[in-house]
Amino acid sequence: MKIGFIGLGNMGAPMALNLARAGHHVRGFDPATAMPEGVDAASSAPDAARGADVVITMLPNGKILRDVAAQVIPAMQHGAVLCDCSTVDVESARAVAEMARQAGLGALDAPVSGGIGGAAAGTLTFMVGGPDDAFVTVQPLFDVMGQKAVHCGTAGAGQAAKICNNMILGVTMIATCEAFALADKLGLDRQKMFDVVSTSSGYSWSMNAYCPAPGIGPQSPADNGYRPGFAAELMLKDLRLSQQAAEGADADTPMGQLAAELYARFVEDEDGKGRDFSAMLPRFEARQRK
Ligand code: NAD
Repeated sequence: MKIGFIGLGNMGAPMALNLARAGHHVRGFDPATAMPEGVDAASSAPDAARGADVVITMLPNGKILRDVAAQVIPAMQHGAVLCDCSTVDVESARAVAEMARQAGLGALDAPVSGGIGGAAAGTLTFMVGGPDDAFVTVQPLFDVMGQKAVHCGTAGAGQAAKICNNMILGVTMIATCEAFALADKLGLDRQKMFDVVSTSSGYSWSMNAYCPAPGIGPQSPADNGYRPGFAAELMLKDLRLSQQAAEGADADTPMGQLAAELYARFVEDEDGKGRDFSAMLPRFEARQRK
């Protein structure tokens, strides 16, 4: 397939590289990064989109996505599919899908889970919103970049799934970190804590796959000085998206709200910016009960 790829940062670059390695013709555009091997450099976003069967975007936020979509949609060929893999607000996803539909294009919101490691290994999970025919068109590309693509519903459903998933992740990471900090103060050995919780009813991905305690459980950013991984500010972004969505939908999400407040304090007032989101553990260790 001919693919335009816009936004080749930490996630986009390895995703585009995997598509090129699988034999697709990929033309990329990013104003700030070099193209990975096998990806042709386009001179602008519309240049990358022209003549493509599928245009993939992997951008920082909904505002940038809307700007880029307004540029690329007029350049895309009739019947092509615009597939946004960024994490953005549900409203931006729906607005971009409607712009594309009016231009005779297919559109999908297809945010991912799996992080930079999953992007490099081609093992991402895609959660996808949009029409069936667009999903069928892009499915072979999801198969190259990921291990699973779930078609969640109509436009915006992928972003809805993503922010609900990450709200759970933010809450369970905080719960896991504060439980380790409490266990420390109770004199419980961390390895024993992991051995019990990882096979008991307190288990979660945060504990079992991404343990925030250094030297315990599988390799994780905690073993690398809390270098991200998944940065605390990205978790804050996702928690704010879930709170924005909850407000719009009149949903009661008190734990999600508290998690957003804690990550906001951690990133904006403490030393969380630039650290992995699991660095909540040293934060709790350093704090006294007020
Ligand atoms: P990043 O900042 O490394 O990459 C974003 C890229 O977009 C940058 O290279 C930037 O130069 C480029 N860009 C900005 N404006 C542009 C424009 N107008 N035209 C073309 N390119 C433009 O971020 P990332 O970590 O790759 O994340 C990308 C998206 O994926 C975000 O929405 C993020 O929330 C989501 N995400 C990230 C992770 C992760 O672990 N990093 C995991 C899941 C989802």
